[in-house]
Amino acid sequence: MTTDTVTPMMAQYLEIKAEHADALLFYRMGDFYELFFDDAAAAAEALDIALTKRGKHMGEDIAMCGVPVHSAEGYLLTLIRKGFRVAVCEQLENPAEAKKRGSKSVVKRGVVRLVTPGTLTEESLLEARRHNYLAAIAEVRGAHALAWADISTGALHVLPLPPSRIGPELARLAPSEVLVADGADTDMHGLVSDIGASLTPIGRAAFDSTGAAKRLCALFEVQTLDAFGTFDRAEIAAMGAVVEYLEITQKGNLPLLQPPQRENLAGVMQIDAATRRNLELTQALSGGRAGSLLAVMDRTVTAGGARLLERRLSSPSRDLDVIRNRQSMIAFVVEQSRFRTDLRHDLRKVPDLDRALSRLALDRGGPRDLAAVRNGLEGAEDIAARMGNMELPEALTILTQDLTGHDALLDLLDQALIAEPPLLVRDGGFIAEGYDADLDDARQLRDEGRGVIARMQSEYSQTAGISSLKIKHNNVLGYFVEVTATHADKMLSAPLNETFKHRQTTANQVRFTTVALSEMETRILNAGGRALDIEKRLYDRLKSAILERAAQLTQTARALSQLDLTTALADLAVEANWCQPQVDASRAMNIIGGRHPVVEQALRAQGAGPFVANDCNLGDVSDIWLLTGPNMAGKSTFLRQNALIALLAQMGSFVPARSAHIGVVSQLFSRVGASDDLARGRSTFMVEMVETAAILNQADAGALVILDEIGRGTATYDGLSIAWATLEHLHEVNGCRALFATHYHELTNLTDKLARVDNATVAVKEHQGDVIFLHEVRKGAADRSYGVQVAKLAGLPTSVIERARVVLDALERGEREGGSARDALIDDLPLFSSRPAPAPQTARAPSNVEEALKSVLPDELSPRDALALIYELKAKL
Ligand code: ADP
Repeated sequence: MTTDTVTPMMAQYLEIKAEHADALLFYRMGDFYELFFDDAAAAAEALDIALTKRGKHMGEDIAMCGVPVHSAEGYLLTLIRKGFRVAVCEQLENPAEAKKRGSKSVVKRGVVRLVTPGTLTEESLLEARRHNYLAAIAEVRGAHALAWADISTGALHVLPLPPSRIGPELARLAPSEVLVADGADTDMHGLVSDIGASLTPIGRAAFDSTGAAKRLCALFEVQTLDAFGTFDRAEIAAMGAVVEYLEITQKGNLPLLQPPQRENLAGVMQIDAATRRNLELTQALSGGRAGSLLAVMDRTVTAGGARLLERRLSSPSRDLDVIRNRQSMIAFVVEQSRFRTDLRHDLRKVPDLDRALSRLALDRGGPRDLAAVRNGLEGAEDIAARMGNMELPEALTILTQDLTGHDALLDLLDQALIAEPPLLVRDGGFIAEGYDADLDDARQLRDEGRGVIARMQSEYSQTAGISSLKIKHNNVLGYFVEVTATHADKMLSAPLNETFKHRQTTANQVRFTTVALSEMETRILNAGGRALDIEKRLYDRLKSAILERAAQLTQTARALSQLDLTTALADLAVEANWCQPQVDASRAMNIIGGRHPVVEQALRAQGAGPFVANDCNLGDVSDIWLLTGPNMAGKSTFLRQNALIALLAQMGSFVPARSAHIGVVSQLFSRVGASDDLARGRSTFMVEMVETAAILNQADAGALVILDEIGRGTATYDGLSIAWATLEHLHEVNGCRALFATHYHELTNLTDKLARVDNATVAVKEHQGDVIFLHEVRKGAADRSYGVQVAKLAGLPTSVIERARVVLDALERGEREGGSARDALIDDLPLFSSRPAPAPQTARAPSNVEEALKSVLPDELSPRDALALIYELKAKL
């Protein structure tokens, strides 16, 4: 038996892999990244590429697969999407250098970057119109904080918050990766997986607030963080963890982070995850973006504007100044139709400045990023000039000031760069002619050389008397003379063999070189190499000039995004006929002619009838509207449209209504009865109750609550009682504004008892036994539910419909004549179809569930215990 020896290369591989056990190691070998052992098996399966073998380790074949370097990004993306992390290991010297150290030496290699979902920067790996956040949750002595950064734009934020708000805030931000301290509360894991982010536990040391403060001061080059605000230890720890993780993944190459912005919960409308989902703000219930409010609203023309829209839509403000400022800008652009068109035209040409800047800072940029900065600044100048001679509202004047002031940089880039540079520095040719004399010289020499070669070719073909003789170039031979095999003999004999030295014979060609050709080649190569070196130097200089002004450039990028969003919202307001809402500190919720933007657009797209606008008025004579009406009448649509209008108003947008007066809403809750949450293994009714409990426990007087068919997930009387008690609680305890849709007509009598509840109904017309939906919301209670008519519309067999009418008549008669009369009637109803007679009732032993229930004292159970009990009982079934 032979003893196994580990090759030097394998030894190096194993050493590097040991440091990155939790990531797939992309090990650079020439033009490929190779993966070995288990990494290879996992990657081959995930990427659907061939798994091969290479040599042996400890007597076993080494599994291997590889991806070409030039197409690695696509593979990286697939792996990241599938939840892997990738450590990219490069060759840190060229193979010739290694050889100098001895024939057995391996090329030096090292991991230059860890690719994880939250730390992507490549254009091809990111969605241009969405943020990509990396978040960290920290806890220091019972205080919690959430920090998040988008390294592709440089934004860094922090928010102190109670643990109960972590879930909702994660839902708002939708980060792609969340950092927690090793051994953190396991509840966090659930919260993070709920939003579909990947969870990365890191060492507790990264969260140490003292070390974190030092890291942050060093990063921002300040003595103390006070310059940016007052942060508590949890906040510092959370930001510190983000920065530490960036250092780990970027291998010390820190991205361009802007100073931290501290947010506070009181500044934004609070919206929890269920409400976001239910209102389909940025994602439709079916999953994708299509059909969401965001998709219907998005008319932005720049990537930065699109990201800002999503941010604003996810975080409506509660600050009246902020809201009114945004409104004033939109109102101005709405009035100026010509200006609006021109501005949108200008903005279309503005590239993604933020992301270009971040790539430059991380040294992953190229000439195109320099050009993006130039084009962005040019666009900003044009826009500023356009706005220069207008009477602007104050907020726009302030924005305009951020657009200019980059003259020197813009001049520099303008002179230095060609119009459309290549992607990579190593391609060269991006510096404009006339910018650098040395470069021009080197280029001239290089290009002349090419002319000289052409002349040599015609000379040689004459000397040899072979008209098909060519001078060609490849990477192995460099320049060479080539003739077809038929001329080989002539070339190989005197006198030609004195000038032409044989180099290679292929199937059809013979190749030669000459002294003069080799000399020329060296000169061309030298000149070309020198030109490229000069270009690289100039690239670095331009890059530094840009990064020196990074802070100001970021301001400009921000101003451009705001202008884009402003014009996009103005455009929408004009075309979709939205109005400027009045937003103030009152309790009003007075909407005239409100519409649901998404349903309205869907109806239009289907060519269906027009959307029927409806009024809503809360906070004046009543705080709660109890909405009844048959299925399909439009109750849910009405509920949601009012929630959306409040939300839109507070993000500073115009709203789909004839007029709207909104008193600032502090929290927005929306719940729909009985929606399944199978993923978390909870029953339908349980989900409904947990969510309703959350509202009743949390909603304050400033909240707007929307409850749609609460209680429908259980038996009629249970459901009715729960809906009843919920309504009373909202009225008596929460004191919030609410819209409450229900099919329990019994509840409509509550308006006699509860002073601030009003009845409203979605009107329908009955016509020859059919129901016609008018979609009109009116004051008053629905007289009946029209369930049978709706069932008919749905196509239930006529026999079933007929039968249902008979049963309904009997039941209604019974209702009027009292309970016992009704029971008797049900007994009397002839059976619709013959069914086996029920088995005679015999006394039976009490079931497990009944036994368990005997010992329960309902009044002593907390709501939580009650839920636990329901689970327990269900398990006994
Ligand atoms: P409900 O909650 O009462 O069962 P929905 O709100 O789901 O009813 O509305 C059912 C359908 O009626 C919607 O999908 C939409 O097509 C239509 N609809 C609802 N409201 C309106 C309206 N105001 N104008 C026009 N069509 C509407």
